[in-house]
Amino acid sequence: MSIATALQDVQQQMRAAADRAGRPASEVRLLLVTKTVAAERVRQAIAAGARELGENKVQEGRPKAAALAGEPVRWAMIGHLQSNKVKEMLDFASSLHSLDRLSLATALERRLQTLGRGLDVLIQVNTSGEASKYGLAPAELPAFLRSLTAFDALRPRGLMTLATFTADQTEVRRCFRLLRSLRDQARNDAPQGADLCELSMGMSGDFPAAIEEGATIVRVGQAVFGARPTPDSFYWPEGDTAAAPPA
Ligand SMILES: *Cc1c(COP(=O)(O)O)cnc(C)c1O
Repeated sequence: MSIATALQDVQQQMRAAADRAGRPASEVRLLLVTKTVAAERVRQAIAAGARELGENKVQEGRPKAAALAGEPVRWAMIGHLQSNKVKEMLDFASSLHSLDRLSLATALERRLQTLGRGLDVLIQVNTSGEASKYGLAPAELPAFLRSLTAFDALRPRGLMTLATFTADQTEVRRCFRLLRSLRDQARNDAPQGADLCELSMGMSGDFPAAIEEGATIVRVGQAVFGARPTPDSFYWPEGDTAAAPPA
């Protein structure tokens, strides 16, 4: 299948899932995840209409974004970010889906103040309960959101999660529902409540379920570009990759 055809297929599945949930399809955006995909193949996806791209690692995303300079796209950083990579991340990304600790917020704020710009951020929550996953524990979220009010350059826009890697759809949906209820609660209670619109959840194996559970952004790579050569353990800690994501 060509990249263009696969992209259309994913978009069609996104519309169908939104329909099933009685949601307008325009409420859900595709973040096309391009890790391990060469710039020339990404260019085919852009030609087919992709506008929002995501990378998990700065050392891959920054040169790829440079190679695709001039294309009508925006880049999101979606992977675990070390504080010493903030400067390079801001060279290419216009949003961050994986804010997961105050020390990172501090490093981001310092650099953003120097640059005189802001950054849209999503807070990553560990909904699976797996010790190996990045993200805040659900109970930590309210205090974290309060602390973020001290960082003028950071614009919290919502929450992000990785569901448990399992074929058990009940468990996957439990993660999505938990993220949604945390977002809904934060909308009511958090100082930034009104701005917390986004739910970044769902990947190639589970994005239709995520949309049914309220996702506003799905992060999809392999369903468009084909299977990745690298194992997922390269992108998040070992111990949570027992089941490969369904194709
Ligand atoms: C790679 C990645 C995805 C997309 O995974 P696919 O299986 O390619 O759809 C989503 N979120 C994060 C954080 C990723 O690193």
